[in-house]
Amino acid sequence: MQDQIQVIRCPHCKEYIDARSAHCRFCHGYIDTLTTQVAAEMQQRVNAAYNDALWLRNGAGAYAIIAVIRLIVPFFGLATNVVLPIMFVALPVMLIRWRVRFGRLQTDDPDYPRAKRNWQAALLLWLPVSVAWLILVLLLEVGL
Ligand SMILES: [Zn+2]
Repeated sequence: MQDQIQVIRCPHCKEYIDARSAHCRFCHGYIDTLTTQVAAEMQQRVNAAYNDALWLRNGAGAYAIIAVIRLIVPFFGLATNVVLPIMFVALPVMLIRWRVRFGRLQTDDPDYPRAKRNWQAALLLWLPVSVAWLILVLLLEVGL
């Protein structure tokens, strides 16, 4: 892990550069070590925030698709009866965890607002599906 190239954004022109370089190869601005370390750490956090949020959005999307399948094909139920409750609980836990870990990053990296949008998309997928699903479960319980 140590010899892998760390990429940061130049503090002057925001182009991606090698974190070990002393001068930006785009604008030739001076890059000091402290700035580089802070920027590299921030870049890693933004990357993690972006990847986690993307994963959350995809997970919430899968959750919504599974819920719809469950609705259309009730006999498909056995697998979805396990997966849905797990995701019903796990997704909001992971959404909150993302918020705690990455909710207050001070960065102008454009990947960060993208990550936040994916986070919101995950919430907007999870919430209505879960509410609809709960109502449906309650109705089925009453119906039986
Ligand atoms: Zn630069």
